[in-house]
Amino acid sequence: VATVDRFQMIRDTIERDSRNAPLDLSSEEFRKIGHRLIDDLAEFYQTLPSRAVTRSTTPSAIRAALPPSLPSTGEDPGEVFGETVPLLLRYSLFNGHPRFFGYITSSPAPVGALADLVGAALNPNVGGWDLSPMASEIEKQCVAWIGELLGMPGESGGLLASGGNMANFIGFLAARRAKMGASVREQGVVNDAGRWLVYASTEIHTWLEKACDLFGLGTRSIRAIAVDSERRLDVTRLREQIASDRRDGYRPFLVVGTAGTVSTGAIDPLPELAELAREENLWFHVDGAYGALATLLPDAPRELEGIREADSVAVDPHKWLYAPLEAGCALVRDPATLKDAFSYMPSYYRFNELDGEERTNFYELGLQNSRGFRALKVWMALRQAGREGYERMIGDDIRLAEALFEMASHRSELEPFSQSLSIATFRYVPRGFDRNAEGATTYLNELNEEILARIKRGGEAYLSNAVVDKTFLLRACIVNFRTGIEDVEALVDLTVRTGREVDQSLRS
Ligand SMILES: *Cc1c(COP(=O)(O)O)cnc(C)c1O
Repeated sequence: VATVDRFQMIRDTIERDSRNAPLDLSSEEFRKIGHRLIDDLAEFYQTLPSRAVTRSTTPSAIRAALPPSLPSTGEDPGEVFGETVPLLLRYSLFNGHPRFFGYITSSPAPVGALADLVGAALNPNVGGWDLSPMASEIEKQCVAWIGELLGMPGESGGLLASGGNMANFIGFLAARRAKMGASVREQGVVNDAGRWLVYASTEIHTWLEKACDLFGLGTRSIRAIAVDSERRLDVTRLREQIASDRRDGYRPFLVVGTAGTVSTGAIDPLPELAELAREENLWFHVDGAYGALATLLPDAPRELEGIREADSVAVDPHKWLYAPLEAGCALVRDPATLKDAFSYMPSYYRFNELDGEERTNFYELGLQNSRGFRALKVWMALRQAGREGYERMIGDDIRLAEALFEMASHRSELEPFSQSLSIATFRYVPRGFDRNAEGATTYLNELNEEILARIKRGGEAYLSNAVVDKTFLLRACIVNFRTGIEDVEALVDLTVRTGREVDQSLRS
């Protein structure tokens, strides 16, 4: 009797028929809010070029615009969106703006935004095939297409990750398992027989430090190899370093080449690195987060051919495939190496089917367990633009960087420094400036640092910087299908105009 009463009691506290849950939304309301959001966003895309790239503000000003406390009773979602979208439009940096030349962050494809809406609404968990049959197959196809664009061998495979850091980590961990053996998964990294070593150029992105730190090697395992005058890894030095390390009892296991360095877009001599890695029996990983996709161009730089010989490659769809954040991709020549490095078979997963067909459970191939459907936005963009569309967009980005470099060479107050892929670096030098005068270098560094700060504050365009051999440079990255030649011309004029102003104010 007691049990029956208890059941009755619980039953009475739950509303009948419909739970009327605080988070549910009627189809009517969903449609209404959704239509308005789509209208607002269509308007945003339309007005984007006439908006400021960003506006200078402070964290406290932004906090003042947010609700003062957690609401105890709920609010009307339509009203909350109505209030929040304008705030986001006011206080954002628009990397989709045609004059965003800042970091290597792309203009996002609008189909990506729509795809994310579908992905979130259906919410497949792309960790297990059973939990996401169509989404898992779309991710597989998407990864295969990216591999095809890079010219990877047909049997290669991989998965999407949140970005370049994570995709590089996946390649790093596959290398660690492949070269240190299965025991590393139980024992951890054991350096008793000599420290394990990783080789990369001095221009490598910080992900490698994070990886060596986090995955048990320690940052002292990195051998930073000097670069040549074009900031590409010097293979002769690498060869010598490996030989001397072996003589000293170290254990080299991994060589990392970069296809498009963060500072200047330099491409390491990847075919030579691939060959050396093979001779030395080392894992060859390519960090192509930014530049790998330039491989699809008919006139791609020759160095990129080394990508197809890599054991693993990281490439970011949220860079040169113009996917909205977040989307990275890790590819391996031999898909079994990912399972070897990451798979566990817990008793609470029973994903094996009896029909004899193999199913890909992405949780077994990488770091994540539950996984979102980030493949849809990438796959949709690949379908909308096709290979030819990407050839044109990526090719144009590079031609615009070349145009910028040329324009900087023809302006007496600008000094071009480098151009590789779609990154150009340059600086402002006042007319008649005496470079040999005492303090000249320091002055030019200060001057350009202030020019950068003013341009970023002004909102007309957005730039970033590189520091090369202690020289402070302005750096324009064009990963943006909305940027046109008129935007590049405007950037040149803006830099000269700002340069004159800052020079005058620093001298007075
Ligand atoms: C952008 C970039 C990274 C990091 O990628 P995230 O997507 O920001 O995590 C790593 N390496 C290179 C060469 C990059 O350009």
